[in-house]
Amino acid sequence: MKRVNSFQRFMNTRAAANCRYQPTCYEHAANCYTHALLIMPAFVGMALLHRLSDDRWERFTAWVYGMGLIALFLVSTVFHIISWKKSHMRTMEHCFHMCDRVVIYFFIAASYTPWLNLRELGPLAAHMRWFVWLMAAAGTIYVFNYHEKYKLVELMFYLTMGFFPALVVTSMTNTEGLSELAFGGLVYCLGVFFFKCDGVIPFAHAIWHVFVALAAAIHYYAIWKYLYRSPALEDIRDA
Ligand SMILES: [Zn+2]
Repeated sequence: MKRVNSFQRFMNTRAAANCRYQPTCYEHAANCYTHALLIMPAFVGMALLHRLSDDRWERFTAWVYGMGLIALFLVSTVFHIISWKKSHMRTMEHCFHMCDRVVIYFFIAASYTPWLNLRELGPLAAHMRWFVWLMAAAGTIYVFNYHEKYKLVELMFYLTMGFFPALVVTSMTNTEGLSELAFGGLVYCLGVFFFKCDGVIPFAHAIWHVFVALAAAIHYYAIWKYLYRSPALEDIRDA
């Protein structure tokens, strides 16, 4: 049955509990463009942090974080293109849908890496540097076993992974940039509302993409400003 409202052209009906929402061609296009346009800026952003690095540890951190940014937008774009244009290739689409989900775990780990690597942390808190990657690996295993089966559990995993490392970050002696970090986190959380609104609000998934892009930009700005541009970095670094 077709929806009878002014958005009918732009939005299909909501999916059943264990099914995936089928976007309209307008929504497919918006899903692709909202992240495709950010692939190049992510490259430029990584190159900039690389140039601003003073030593190998900073360069390595810029590389890890930059790869996380690029991978997120690239994998997301490829998945959305395949789900739009190649939906007859179900297995390939399914594979990329899983990659689209896995890359989020690694993106969260990569986003925390500059703060965990370049700020002074306590001996216990410093373990979060590797623990975030362990969580990303656990998320990956979860996706490969239970993809699309328990959507709420998956969402709780993302939120846990998003908030848990923040416990360490907020215990840092140097608190510069933490308000930007929290603000970016808030923008991600607001975006999750739209992530759950396919078939209720037209272009809900593309709006989620825009929130992701905004939050990533806020976090990038904070990393650039407080961890790379700051000339006093030497004073606050681990001895
Ligand atoms: Zn998407």
